[in-house]
Amino acid sequence: MRGHTLIQLADAARLTRWADGLVRVPVLLYHMIIRPGLPADPEMAVPQDRFSEQLTCLADAGCACISLDRLIRHVLHGEPVPPRSFAITFDDGFLDTYRLAWPVLQRRGMTATVFLVSDLMDKLSEWMRVEPSGPQLLMGCEHVREMHQAGIGFGSHGRRHVDLTCLDDDELADELCTSRQVISGLLREDVRVLAYPFGRFNARVRSAAARMGYAAALSVRGGWNRRGTDPLALRRIVVSGRDTGTNLLIKIILGEHRIRWHAATARLTRTLLFRA
Ligand SMILES: [Zn+2]
Repeated sequence: MRGHTLIQLADAARLTRWADGLVRVPVLLYHMIIRPGLPADPEMAVPQDRFSEQLTCLADAGCACISLDRLIRHVLHGEPVPPRSFAITFDDGFLDTYRLAWPVLQRRGMTATVFLVSDLMDKLSEWMRVEPSGPQLLMGCEHVREMHQAGIGFGSHGRRHVDLTCLDDDELADELCTSRQVISGLLREDVRVLAYPFGRFNARVRSAAARMGYAAALSVRGGWNRRGTDPLALRRIVVSGRDTGTNLLIKIILGEHRIRWHAATARLTRTLLFRA
């Protein structure tokens, strides 16, 4: 089924908008974009040609890539966004986000926000030492400045990529505050967006993020964002290297990390029968 047909079906079933007219905006979460053909964990890595196919499918379906800042203004203040808007994020700031993902975004005139680990820029992703892929090179200051000047957004992913829920209050404040200061200094603008490392947060971490000046923070909870969503618990949809463009579109329509076909079909049937 082609992308635009899926969207027409979803619109007919009012799956992309609630019946009360509120807009739902998905935020995509990518980690690594890799060269095609390399062995990798598909949950962490999307080959460059697959990434390109995914974005082409979304563009062909009439989806509009908006900046994370714009999404946040929509969530906080109700600033209008185009129909079928979505935003793109990359966690960790791998060098391959600069080398392989950015050219694909540029070709399509799309933007994204990259979350940096401030102590590890230009170094290896040490927290991945226990993973099969091993540590990967992270981008440095020059890469960040170049992308930022071309319109790519940046946010904090902490100082060391540690689970913030396990830290005491002083360590937590340091992770949140120092990383924000370092990245703000690098970009010469106030950075006010955070992605929780490993997606882990609780009420204490959320409150600390607000106190340290973050206007918004992103989780890995599935679903969409709309006006009134907690800005310090924004939702994202994890994109896998297994997702074809059409699969990704279905995940966006359903607001889920994985497509559970039986549940999805039942939900669509119910909606078409009783609400359309
Ligand atoms: Zn991460």
